[in-house]
Amino acid sequence: MHLSQRQLFFQHLAQTSPIPMGLEITKAQGIYLEGAGGEKYIDFISGIAVSNVGHCHPEVVKAIREQAQTYMHLMVYGEYIQSPQIKLAEAIVNIMPPEIDSVYFVNSGAEATEGAIKLAKRFTGRTEIISFRNAYHGSTHGALSVMGSEEFKNAYRPLLPDTRILDFNEEAGLRYITEKTAAVIVEPIQGEAGVVSGKIEFIKQLRKRCSETGTLLICDEIQSGFGRTGTLFAFEQYQVIPDIVLMAKGMGGGMPIGAFAAPREVMRAFTHNPALGHITTFGGHPVSCAASLACLQVIQKEELAAKAVWIEEIIRKRLQHSKIKVLRGRGAMLALEFEDADLNYKVISNCIQRGLISDWFLFCPTAMRIAPPLIISETELEAACAIILQSIELA
Ligand code: PLP
Repeated sequence: MHLSQRQLFFQHLAQTSPIPMGLEITKAQGIYLEGAGGEKYIDFISGIAVSNVGHCHPEVVKAIREQAQTYMHLMVYGEYIQSPQIKLAEAIVNIMPPEIDSVYFVNSGAEATEGAIKLAKRFTGRTEIISFRNAYHGSTHGALSVMGSEEFKNAYRPLLPDTRILDFNEEAGLRYITEKTAAVIVEPIQGEAGVVSGKIEFIKQLRKRCSETGTLLICDEIQSGFGRTGTLFAFEQYQVIPDIVLMAKGMGGGMPIGAFAAPREVMRAFTHNPALGHITTFGGHPVSCAASLACLQVIQKEELAAKAVWIEEIIRKRLQHSKIKVLRGRGAMLALEFEDADLNYKVISNCIQRGLISDWFLFCPTAMRIAPPLIISETELEAACAIILQSIELA
C-alpha cells in the first residue's frame, strides 16, 4: 500500500503535539513557503526567528554550495584549523563588545545554553544558576532546569539542583543573586513569554548585581539576535555588556548552528582540569559556518537590523483593530495580544487559511507571533497586515 506523505508523517515522525500544523511544504523562497498543492504562504514567523534573511537567500545558498564542494565535516570541534570557522568567529568577535573575543560553536540554541552553564560553573567554581519566570532557553536537561515554567519542568524532574527562578523586571528579587551564584541567564527581550522587553533599569541593575557578586551574566540572544529587534543583539539597547552571549536560530541563515561567546580568559576554563571540558562532534560544521558568515554579511550589507525598526513602524501603523488588546515587542519580534486564547487561535487559524503563517507563544497562548523575515518588502508587509486584519474581523 502506498502511503501519502501525510500518513507517513504521522506514522514515522516522532510527534510532540496532538495537533501539529501539518502543512506539507515543498519549497521555500524569500518570505514564502509553497504547499504541496501549489498554495503560497507568507512565513510571518520565519520558522520561529530563524529565516531572518528569508528562505534560500542566494548568498547563503552560494556559500553552502561552495563549502560543500570544498570540505564538509573533518574532525570534532576545535582540533583542526578550518577557515569557515575562523572567518565566522572573527566576524562575530567584530560585532561583540571588545571584552568578548572568543567563540565556541555548537549546533543549536539549547546546546549554547548547556555550554554556557557549564562554563559559568567551571569558571566561578560555584553551582547556583538563576533565571527568570517565563524564560525559555532550550529543551535539553540543563536548559530545561532554567526554564521559567514549572509545568514544563515537573514532568522531567529531577533536573539540575541549585537553580532559582526570579520574577522578570522585578528589581527587588535581584538580592537573591549572591556570591554563591555562578550565573544569571536572561533574555533581554523574552521571546516565549510573549515578547516581554526587559526594562532598561532592571537589566542595568541586574548587570550591576552580577558584577558586585562575581556572577557571570549570560544574555540569551538566541531568538532576539542577528538583527531581529533593531540592533544586531538586543543587549546593545541596554548599555550593558554581558559576560557570555548565546546565539543560534537566525545565525545560520537556515542552517543549524549556535554559539556562545565569552572573554578568552573565561573560555580557557574548558582547557584544563579536565581538558576537553566541553566537546562536540558537529559544532561549527564548516557548511553551517559558511552559511552563517554569508547570512551575517547580508544582514550587515542590507542593514536589516535597522530595517527591523521600519518593519515595526509599519506594523504598528497598519495593525489597528478594536479586538487587539496590545501589540508588544521591538523591531520584528512582536506579539499581538487578544482578550483570550480562543480568539487568538481563531485569528491564527484564519490567517493560515488565508495564506499567512503565524503561531502563539509557549507561555502566552493569548498572543500571536509576528516575526517576519527582515528582507520583507513594503508591499508584502502591507499584504500580510491586510490578511491579519481580515482574519481578526472574521474571528
Ligand atoms: N533560547 C531562546 C530564547 C529560544 O527562543 C530558543 C528556541 O526557541 C532556545 C533558547 C533554544 O534553541 P533551540 O531550539 O535551537 O535549541
